[in-house]
Amino acid sequence: MRFMLVNQETPRLGATCSACARPLGASYLRHASMQERYCDYDCYRQQATMEIFWPFRSSLEAITALTAISAWSLMMQMGALSRSLTEAYLRAHDLLTTEGGDG
Ligand SMILES: [Zn+2]
Repeated sequence: MRFMLVNQETPRLGATCSACARPLGASYLRHASMQERYCDYDCYRQQATMEIFWPFRSSLEAITALTAISAWSLMMQMGALSRSLTEAYLRAHDLLTTEGGDG
């Protein structure tokens, strides 16, 4: 964990908590590299937990990732469909040639 406890230092005007969006008080937590601010350790931990499950910084990133995932799953379904159609065709073809050979 890389954060620091800021005490008795008024944050810039309108600064809010990155987790719960409440206005920050005289003491708050500041993330060392991200420059994000939190009311307290609970808010920091809540945000850190959220980022494990939803590691996207912006909604655009999330949309891009979801689009990629759905395009990939559609491709997998199309692949399975074409494979089963090919198998059905080959089976029918085998049946026809076998019947043709006998007759
Ligand atoms: Zn908060």
